[in-house]
Amino acid sequence: MSCFLDKKFSALTPYTPGEQPRNAEKVIKLNTNECPYPPSPAVIHALSHDGELSNLRLYPDPTCKSLISAIAESLSVSPENVTVGNGSDELLAFCFHAFCENGAIFPDITYGFYEVFCKMFGTAFTEVPLLDDFSVDTGALCTSDATVFLANPNAPTGITLSCDEIERIIAAKPERLVVVDEAYVDFGAESAVRLTSKYKNLIVIHTMSKSRSLAGGRIGYAVADKALIEDLNLMRFSFNPYNINRLSLIAGTASVKDNEYFESCRARIASSRRFLLDELSGLGFYTTKSLANFIFAGRHPKISADVLEKKLRERNILVRYFKKPRLSDFLRITVGSEDECKALVAAIKSILCEVS
Ligand SMILES: *Cc1c(COP(=O)(O)O)cnc(C)c1O
Repeated sequence: MSCFLDKKFSALTPYTPGEQPRNAEKVIKLNTNECPYPPSPAVIHALSHDGELSNLRLYPDPTCKSLISAIAESLSVSPENVTVGNGSDELLAFCFHAFCENGAIFPDITYGFYEVFCKMFGTAFTEVPLLDDFSVDTGALCTSDATVFLANPNAPTGITLSCDEIERIIAAKPERLVVVDEAYVDFGAESAVRLTSKYKNLIVIHTMSKSRSLAGGRIGYAVADKALIEDLNLMRFSFNPYNINRLSLIAGTASVKDNEYFESCRARIASSRRFLLDELSGLGFYTTKSLANFIFAGRHPKISADVLEKKLRERNILVRYFKKPRLSDFLRITVGSEDECKALVAAIKSILCEVS
């Protein structure tokens, strides 16, 4: 640390992203919830044919018109109800920065970035403990005056609140904002987007990183009442008006327009998730009813989660282990391709034989 860093950041612990190995071809990478399938062929086509690479000398369209129109159309909302971010992380950062005068409140087990953003922006925050079955305690969220942040499906548990439960939290205090982070909603949960036309205190945030195979493109979007979108654009244009680069504008727009490919990818992931949940519970793991593109599995009578993580790593399979209270007996395992899921199950079977 240099002597120049503002003291308010000296105790900041950054978010730790999952490992990105260099020899990615040799590794079965089930640690960062990326999609195992490539982006839509329409994305690859749009990027490779349009003289787009030479256009990189030009700034991108700061209004992101084509992308925002395509997103709005796909969700049956108006473009004035949508804005875009450099990954949904950037939009979440804007929300913590702009909308938390009364503090923030979120479950104690959720997306780790929420706490980092609070510390970065000096936002007071309350963590509501998850119940014993890892579900969200919605009662405490209903009564709080602080801005509510909810990952739904939650990470890393995959457990999902119904739209009715989300609506109850929103409706409980119309003067208090609720931000629903639906990074994993496309894999089987019901989206709260339809509630954005009914409630002026709701922001729904989506990402193209998971269900649209565009993690490297860094594209997130927010859907909300027009006034909230204006506020988010105020933040966006005060920070980085060119937050979506030219190639990502093209990739995101082409992806949103190819609904057929999107539907087939998410159906394949849902089917592989069913396979993994059946196999792992058959092998004696406790699993949650995940609706995300990962499963949360652990509490095995014969092997601890940290040992299993290491033994999988020896076999070139990466999964995510969180050394934290209540999570340390579990692994978060991304649903990979059909072959990757089979290889994972085979590896776990052989490891279980080895330890018994
Ligand atoms: C992956 C993830 C994000 C971040 O997505 P990006 O769009 O890649 O920044 C946000 N929230 C949750 C819960 C996530 O799992």
